[in-house]
Amino acid sequence: MSRFFSSRYESLEPYTPGEQPKNLSEVIKLNTNESPYPPLKEAMEYGFNTARPLNLYSDPECVELRTEMAKKYGIKPSQVVAVNGSDEILNFSFMAFCDDRNTAAFPDITYGFYKVFADFNHVRYEEIPLDKDFKVDFRDYLGINKTIFIANPNAPTGLTISLSEIEEILKSNPDNVVIIDEAYVDFGGESAVKLIDTYKNLLVTQTFSKSRSMAGGRLGFGFACEELISDINRIRFSTNPYNVNAMTMAVGVGTLKNDDYYMEKCREIAATRDYTREELIKMGFSVIPSKANFIFAETDRIDGEVLYNRLRERNILTRHFKNERIRNFVRISIGTKEQMARFLLAVKEILEEK
Ligand code: PMP
Repeated sequence: MSRFFSSRYESLEPYTPGEQPKNLSEVIKLNTNESPYPPLKEAMEYGFNTARPLNLYSDPECVELRTEMAKKYGIKPSQVVAVNGSDEILNFSFMAFCDDRNTAAFPDITYGFYKVFADFNHVRYEEIPLDKDFKVDFRDYLGINKTIFIANPNAPTGLTISLSEIEEILKSNPDNVVIIDEAYVDFGGESAVKLIDTYKNLLVTQTFSKSRSMAGGRLGFGFACEELISDINRIRFSTNPYNVNAMTMAVGVGTLKNDDYYMEKCREIAATRDYTREELIKMGFSVIPSKANFIFAETDRIDGEVLYNRLRERNILTRHFKNERIRNFVRISIGTKEQMARFLLAVKEILEEK
């Protein structure tokens, strides 16, 4: 840290992103929950052919993209905001909906960025423990009068809570915004977007990083009543009105015009996930039943960190977390069927070597 660095941020612990290796052709990359499938050619071509020229700024209103997205959910474009990856709207939410009175609350085991955004925005927060089965117990969130962040499905567990449980949380915290982070919803969850007309304190966030093969394009969305969307836009226009670049915006539209293809790929990934889970269980793992594009697995046959390192030596990248309660687990993103077959073979060999 230089002597010029702001004292407001000196105690900040930045988020550590998963490794992004250069030698992509040599590794099986199951560490950051991306899609293993490249974007559809038609979606890319649509983007290249229709994007605003790059000498001009991108459309700060993102009209075409928001209109296309609104159509998908049968809502109004004014109930949608487009952002530079859903991380951006999560940060905006801490800025817009938290202060000294409205502190934050989220599960103790969840997406690690919530804590970083809270610290970055000097927001106090409570971490609410998952229950003994690693589930979010909705009763822990009733009437807590805090700005609530819940990933549904949660990460790194992949477990969901039901829409009726979300409704209970919304009803019992009428003076706070509840943010439902649906980064992984397309792999088997049920979206809360259909509730935004009923609950004026609901903000749903989604991303094109996982289900739409666009992690590198950086595209996310927020869905809420017009008042909350306008709050988010107040923050967006005070930081970066051109937050979504012209290429990404146009490829995003091309993607939505081909959404059946992407939804089919999500079903394929979900099937590969369930197969991988069953094979791991046969080898003696316990695997949390995930509705996301990753699984979270542990076994008493091998320490989680050792397994992570042994896989790494074989150029198979997964994710390990040091948090005490989950330190024996490895999180495995779901790749193609072929990649998962190679992963399973490697696990088998590693267990036999022991
Ligand atoms: N929410 C959750 C739960 C995530 O795991 C991630 C991805 N790491 C994000 C949000 C952010 O994704 P992106 O910024 O790529 O949209």
